[in-house]
Amino acid sequence: MSITVHQFPCLSDNYGFLVRDDATGKTACIDTPDADAILAELAKLGWSLDMVLNTHWHPDHAGGNARLKAETGCTVVGPAEVERIGTAPDRVVDEGDSVALGETTFVVINTGGHTLGHIAFYDAADGAAFVGDTLFALGCGRLFEGTPQQMWTSLQKLAALPDAVTVYCAHEYTASNARFALSVDADPGLKARTDAIFAARERGEWTVPTTIGLEKATNPFLRAPLLRPDIADPAEAFGAVRAAKDSFHG
Ligand SMILES: [Zn+2]
Repeated sequence: MSITVHQFPCLSDNYGFLVRDDATGKTACIDTPDADAILAELAKLGWSLDMVLNTHWHPDHAGGNARLKAETGCTVVGPAEVERIGTAPDRVVDEGDSVALGETTFVVINTGGHTLGHIAFYDAADGAAFVGDTLFALGCGRLFEGTPQQMWTSLQKLAALPDAVTVYCAHEYTASNARFALSVDADPGLKARTDAIFAARERGEWTVPTTIGLEKATNPFLRAPLLRPDIADPAEAFGAVRAAKDSFHG
């Protein structure tokens, strides 16, 4: 069993992902940032859409649901909070649920914090995780709704996945994240990574996807307890690093 992931930029800094189960041709899109862009990519590939997998309710993640459902007849699967965008998902899922796309299985991981009901979709067989706005390359989502404790718990669930897992983040925020990371962490591995990131962005290349191993080694939010040894509680250390990023203008 295997999947093909087709990634494309849309809106100002989102990535769209079309995921095809190779055995059956069943296709899902991860979030619906831009219905026009998703329909155009489907047409270009000759793929038809069977399912939407929403990570959270924000308009740049679920705003295209209604149009895609109307035009393709796809099934919408997501957390209950997606109802806030206007239409409830056809199937509401949360921690531990499984979603089948042909022969591919996604396990749902609750990764609340950016929004309260945020979820990620993990395909263990293919080593792929679609994490929405929870974990970014060198970054993590802002805490619009949740607490540092909730987000830290969510990030630890992702960090517990195998190092080789490919992490598909929903935004290209990496250069900005890298500038912040360098301001709080003098690790040589981080410096090497950020040099490569700035060069890649100069060439117009994407820095997503990333991997769990790379983020564990260099992401300042996952490394928060190491960066703030003065704070005993790991979630509080994370909260301090997150607060520093929120007020960082680099
Ligand atoms: Zn969001």
